[in-house]
Amino acid sequence: MITEKLQKAINDQITAELWSSNLYLQMSYFLEKEGWDGFAHWMMKQSEEEKDHANELAHYLIKRGGEAKVDKVDVVPSGWGSVLEVFEHVYKHECYVSELIDSLVDVAASEKDKASQDFLWGFVREQVEEEATAAGIVEKLKKAGDNGLLFLDGQLAQR
Ligand code: MG
Repeated sequence: MITEKLQKAINDQITAELWSSNLYLQMSYFLEKEGWDGFAHWMMKQSEEEKDHANELAHYLIKRGGEAKVDKVDVVPSGWGSVLEVFEHVYKHECYVSELIDSLVDVAASEKDKASQDFLWGFVREQVEEEATAAGIVEKLKKAGDNGLLFLDGQLAQR
């Protein structure tokens, strides 16, 4: 059985994951409207992945005898100046999510819940990948000229 405090913290993270999913969905729509079908496709997958994270947390809570809650999700920002700006935002946001996950591990530790700590380490590892992936795309976008941007759009369409 999971403690009340940890359940609340995990439910807050579910809300944060759904917010991330909506942020990336908004970014995907923006990129699609700008004619970047590949970047839009990549971002749509990213949005779906965040929803999967929320579901993973919910399934875990239920498995531990807790209750998963779909709470109110705040409005996400919209409108970016460039593709680079969008992906810089993704990188910044993933760094923020990493902090949230770290705090969640701290709650699990303070509640002396070993199973939850073990479960959450998977999310800690996932964030290492998320940050590196976003940073890698930002790096490539900075190097790319107008033609390079078109090439990258084609590459990210492969996701
Ligand atoms: Mg996530």
